[in-house]
Amino acid sequence: MQLLEERIRRDGIVREGNVLKVDSFLNHQIDVTLLNEMGRELLRLFGDDGVTKILTIEASGIGIACIAAQYFNVPVVFAKKAASKNISGDVYTSRVHSFTKDKYYDVMVSKDFLHAGDRVLIIDDFLAKGAALIGLCDIINQAGATVVGAGIAIEKAFQDGGKKVRDMGIRIESLARVASMSPGSGVVFAE
Ligand code: 5GP
Repeated sequence: MQLLEERIRRDGIVREGNVLKVDSFLNHQIDVTLLNEMGRELLRLFGDDGVTKILTIEASGIGIACIAAQYFNVPVVFAKKAASKNISGDVYTSRVHSFTKDKYYDVMVSKDFLHAGDRVLIIDDFLAKGAALIGLCDIINQAGATVVGAGIAIEKAFQDGGKKVRDMGIRIESLARVASMSPGSGVVFAE
């Protein structure tokens, strides 16, 4: 998506350790007009797939998911990150490794909000090594619901998450695919 790529090129900051900071429009300050266009594009990509629910993960996926959900006219559920001791019985849980924080945490979704029969579109801000996506797919499977696919704002295509998750048979549509990046020379996008 050209608009997003232009914005990343202009305002994205590449940090050491393969981290792209997009705090000025996506992860801290939010450009709602841009997110609106992203939501419209996700509807174009997944609008015919009978989506009944959008699932994301707190915190940075929530904004994108909510704006996209207005186009799909479905609820958003966000997986909460929880200390294991806070998890009660009526939740689906999965253990996820955080790429940016380099630690494991449990994510959980109440059994009240995902059901067999739901057709779930996952939305997230980044795809790196795939741990967040795999955890969310695990939760959807535990609920007996169907993974329609994943809509990702920024896929770092030089990391292995995209291949791993696509090899699981999951459809991934990324609005911007970063082929390579470095603090010195910035971001290069995939075709
Ligand atoms: P994965 O689970 O695919 O390794 O990483 C995806 C998650 O890590 C996303 O939910 C996102 O919050 C975070 N993440 C991964 N890479 C980046 C990055 O380069 N920049 C930012 N801001 N977040 C990232």
